[in-house]
Amino acid sequence: MILIQSKRFYILVVSFLLGNILIAQTKKFQGQPPITIVSTQSKPVQEQWKGVFSFKEGDVYFSNNFDGGRLNGLIKNNDSTYTALITSENTPINMSPWYAFKIWSKRNQIINLVLTYQENAKHRYYPKQSNDGLHWQQIDSTQYIEYEKGDEDFGYNSLPVKIKMRLKVDQDTLWVASQELQTSKHVSDWSDGLVKEKFIDKKEIGRSRAGRPIEVITIGKKKVKRMVMVISRQHPPEVTGYLAMKSFVETITGNTKLAKRFRRKYTTHVVPLMNPDGVDNGHWRHNAGGIDLNRDWEQFNHPETRAVRDFMDRRKQETKGTFYFAIDFHSTWDDIYYTLGTELKGNMPGLVPDWLNAMKGEMKGYDPNIRPSSKIHPTAVSRNYFFAAHGAESLVFEIGDNTDREFIKEKGRIGAENLMRLMLERL
Ligand SMILES: [Zn+2]
Repeated sequence: MILIQSKRFYILVVSFLLGNILIAQTKKFQGQPPITIVSTQSKPVQEQWKGVFSFKEGDVYFSNNFDGGRLNGLIKNNDSTYTALITSENTPINMSPWYAFKIWSKRNQIINLVLTYQENAKHRYYPKQSNDGLHWQQIDSTQYIEYEKGDEDFGYNSLPVKIKMRLKVDQDTLWVASQELQTSKHVSDWSDGLVKEKFIDKKEIGRSRAGRPIEVITIGKKKVKRMVMVISRQHPPEVTGYLAMKSFVETITGNTKLAKRFRRKYTTHVVPLMNPDGVDNGHWRHNAGGIDLNRDWEQFNHPETRAVRDFMDRRKQETKGTFYFAIDFHSTWDDIYYTLGTELKGNMPGLVPDWLNAMKGEMKGYDPNIRPSSKIHPTAVSRNYFFAAHGAESLVFEIGDNTDREFIKEKGRIGAENLMRLMLERL
């Protein structure tokens, strides 16, 4: 008996110590500093030269001539080494240095490709490659070298200044990109697939600054008074947030009892691509007006934010209904949720904390990083606007750049299931 008890005690001590070690080892992203309020008046954008980069003596070709492409300069160092320059659409800008290009060669060979960036910018996204622009995999780590990497866990000081990749090239096109390409064409192919269901509809609610459609997908009956708003991709490189949104939305459109019940009671409106110009032009952050759309939810200087504002106002008027929940999907250094302080009570108080808790309970070992804020004005960001203008319980759902893609799908699915259940319970 004494032995068993002491064994238990020993196990307790060991697990306590291990727990502490684990806590000490798992560093959490501390979140972004408070948002600075800036003018969102349009600023000039540096248009990217588009075409095929080739050399007099050489048989390797590079192209940025496709939607989502970004490659701003290229030199040939020697027979097998090339250096690319990646620059942003304008400055100052958030450190989300997007790149995407195609490579092919007249003969089979291995090349070295160095990626460099404009002054004060560093390499952030682990390169992915594809043979068709649809299916992507990470470049093998043995073929990838980072230079002058910072020693912090997150942010600017965690990044290398430049990288070198070894790539096998031949006559077939090799695609290289910072994240999986999800351009306006990919997004509309996805929504075209969804609207085959009779309870899903899509329509244009405005045009971007460069004339691309801003589309809303509506799931459920249009006359239902209870509404949910979902947006994503205000920031072009934030593909992982978009992937979570996709899985979240697909779960709401699913064939389950839960989803069917939810759709009878709530209508969900989704704007999957808030910034199509930025996405198709390979921007790091901004729209074609050269500004961060997620600072324009107070000033509404841009057609993309105005389209969503006006759509929500119209829906509210037409249905005499209520937006209960609103979510904006993004990506950052690590999974994090920017919520509102619990003292701010909207149309369904407590929904967001309950929801995040329920998700946490279902994903063993997963401890989401939750950062509430109680500063609503000036609204500037979508989360604040959705709450201030509509009383919608709202949050920013951020997925890490490198979060496992299967786990992202899982989070989207579990997120939607728990949200639907909780919102039905509160009827
Ligand atoms: Zn973002």
